Amino acid sequence: MQIHTQIPLKNYTTMRIGGPTRFMADVHTIDELKQLVQTAKAKNLRLFVLGSGSNVIAHDEGFDGLVIRMRILGFEIIEDNATYCVLKIGAGEDWDATVKKTVDMRLSGIEAMSAIPGTVGASPVQNVGAYGQEVADTLVSLEAYDTTTNEVVTLDNQACEFSYRHSIFRGRELGRYIILNVTLKLWKSLPKPPFYDSLQQYFDDKGINIFTHQIVRDAVIAIRAEKLPDPKVLANTGSFFKNAIIENWRLDDLRTKLPDLKSYDMGDGTTKIPTGWLIEKAGLKGQLLHGMRVYDKNALVLVNESASGYVDLASARDEIIAAIRDNYQIIIEQEPLELA
Ligand SMILES: Cc1cc2nc3c(=O)[nH]c(=O)nc-3n(C[C@H](O)[C@H](O)[C@H](O)COP(=O)(O)OP(=O)(O)OC[C@H]3O[C@@H](n4cnc5c(N)ncnc54)[C@H](O)[C@@H]3O)c2cc1C
Repeated sequence: MQIHTQIPLKNYTTMRIGGPTRFMADVHTIDELKQLVQTAKAKNLRLFVLGSGSNVIAHDEGFDGLVIRMRILGFEIIEDNATYCVLKIGAGEDWDATVKKTVDMRLSGIEAMSAIPGTVGASPVQNVGAYGQEVADTLVSLEAYDTTTNEVVTLDNQACEFSYRHSIFRGRELGRYIILNVTLKLWKSLPKPPFYDSLQQYFDDKGINIFTHQIVRDAVIAIRAEKLPDPKVLANTGSFFKNAIIENWRLDDLRTKLPDLKSYDMGDGTTKIPTGWLIEKAGLKGQLLHGMRVYDKNALVLVNESASGYVDLASARDEIIAAIRDNYQIIIEQEPLELA
């Protein structure tokens, strides 16, 4: 295992921002990981685990510690019967390649999460989700290296405390666990309506009324290609903000300001408001702020067109947050985590 020094983080994050990390190493096995973590601890170095860098923002001053790039592979069938299949997948596997494999196996459960960039190991961190599915729906358990106790532990679904784009891994246990693999339970049934609104709309527009795993995957890939920039072409981290969740009692007041308010009842006394729509209503869609473009096809996405670095990104972000707060009294939150 090689440990590299002074590696520019902008080359390893899809927002293409960030100064050098003091150390960086790829890990391919649990033993390599254990050895690396022990060494880092002995030298009092801070640690950061990186997958594909599609949901992190690095800082201009870089990172004074060790960035571990997760590369542990594996795709194993644990249980297979007439109704379901249980798979154990290495954290370093590519998420979309994994979705494709499961679609080819005619398994249901993650097909609507096609074309999400990133690694399998990062998927529980923000409870990755799209088009009505999220990892929490299919994750049975995961194995992780606990950097506090230096042991490999198994955490079941409940222990991950999943909620909308959240889990313990980006919440109260941030930085404690290094996810090694995830175990998913997928179903041997065809995808069934009702589908997520925009997915159903796509099917209606195309006159599609037979639904296979592949048809759902193809539809999701087509919809995403229309409204999300390819990070290989335009630097971005997908949704830069989480959708806003507000208490239901605030809805009447908000509707007086926004009569055409778009909202989704979460069924728990709260309502989800699409933040991209709020940003558009505030007149910011398509605007260039400090070198960051509010993407013209989807205002939830910020594209790094010519930002000089993190400082520019932070200025653009703070202006957008302030505009939504001042116009609608809603505080929106950044989705990508900070590599700092
Ligand atoms: C164009 C685009 C579209 C996107 N669409 C979606 C979408 O539809 N839905 C969605 O939910 N997200 C979406 N994202 C965000 C991103 O793809 C996901 O969050 C993805 O899971 C990040 O994977 P990664 O490997 O790049 O993680 P990274 O960005 O490298 O890391 C993200 C976080 O996870 C932690 N982490 C990574 N691996 C591990 C591990 N093995 N153990 C512990 N912690 C770990 C990191 O420390 C960091 O805090 C999109 C991003 C882009 C660029």
